[in-house]
Amino acid sequence: MPFFRPDIGSAEESEVLAVLRSGWLTTGPRVRQFEEQFAEAVGGRHAVAVNSATAALHLAVEALGLGRGVARQAVLVPTMTFAATAEVVRYMNAVPILVDCDASTLNIDIADAERKIAQAARGEIPGVGVVEVVGIIPVHVGGVMVDMVRLREFSTAHDLWIVEDAAHAFPAAWRSSADEEWTSCGSDTSAVTCFSFYANKTITTGEGGMAVTADRRLADRMRLMSLHGLSRDAWNRYNSGGSWDYQIVEPGMKYNLTDICAAIGIAQLRRSEEMREARERLAMRYSAQLGHITEIELPPWPDNRLHAWHLYPVRLQLDRLRIDRNQFIEKLKSAEVGCSVHWRPLHLHPYYCEQFGWMPEEFPTASREWKRLISLPLFPSMTTDEQDFVVESVAAICAACRR
Ligand SMILES: *Cc1c(COP(=O)(O)O)cnc(C)c1O
Repeated sequence: MPFFRPDIGSAEESEVLAVLRSGWLTTGPRVRQFEEQFAEAVGGRHAVAVNSATAALHLAVEALGLGRGVARQAVLVPTMTFAATAEVVRYMNAVPILVDCDASTLNIDIADAERKIAQAARGEIPGVGVVEVVGIIPVHVGGVMVDMVRLREFSTAHDLWIVEDAAHAFPAAWRSSADEEWTSCGSDTSAVTCFSFYANKTITTGEGGMAVTADRRLADRMRLMSLHGLSRDAWNRYNSGGSWDYQIVEPGMKYNLTDICAAIGIAQLRRSEEMREARERLAMRYSAQLGHITEIELPPWPDNRLHAWHLYPVRLQLDRLRIDRNQFIEKLKSAEVGCSVHWRPLHLHPYYCEQFGWMPEEFPTASREWKRLISLPLFPSMTTDEQDFVVESVAAICAACRR
């Protein structure tokens, strides 16, 4: 039973075959089509396709001018995230100020962000000194969006830009109350919203990402920097009217997506809502079957969130078990059930420890919760038999290791 199995079928195969036969493999018409259709799907204005979400995040903070101020700059980043969210801040020679998570959703804790920003103003953050905090990069963990109203109030009060790490959040939406319309992730909510199409994300292109923004200038800058800083005309190289005479106007990156990948993305996009619904059905089925096991806590599904269900993370009630999380994972592995942990918080990784000297006590919630986290397999093509096998394996381990 694998942790994840990509849902690739004949639609993806025929889209890719058409590209292979077209004679145009790299960035071209299929990328343009994918950008337009993705922007439409999330209700965003400009979409820039790139070869990873990490690239999208890097281009976003670059376009926002991170690190170009006179003072040393810093960005608020949740400690409960993947490497990419914080490393792009380091790419720009700025400082990621890590923030604890909310105990229920594991999303960034705005109250702790308030504390960290006050500490930063007083120069009290260890290993950081006096910095100018310019932005925040929230992550919609597992596919549950952060409270965008609260986040926006906070970012406005402190004059911060928001770049969303939406690697888990397609398709996802939020509203502040039941009588409001849904606002989908990527529709004008932040400076830039960054999506991932890595192999095990909710839709995939193998490797790929998308930066979505309502700001034309940010979109232009990200596009420019995604291809060696070649002047906009250089994009005309990609059609027959193009010229050989491009101009280098910035030292850019090489982050463009290929038409081969975009073709997979176009097919996946068409099935994205159907795949989300399949994950939601499976998640509900997990919750119904695991709900009575007292050694397990189910993932929350807050009101007013359209859940992408990228992950199904359960938490162990460690005081009811004779084994810890790692031993639990070993037993799942022996039963041939694939699982994962999202995540070891960044402050518990050698680089961030050594560089900034963060102490676990500064992130009490993340430091405590990560020790009980296990993400169970969840993907649209999972059969009910496969899911029953996971549930039975979890139930058997709990029964055998009950305190
Ligand atoms: C997967 C992931 C990324 C990176 O996505 P890539 O497309 O692999 O660069 C960034 N942030 C989070 C939260 C992720 O889960």
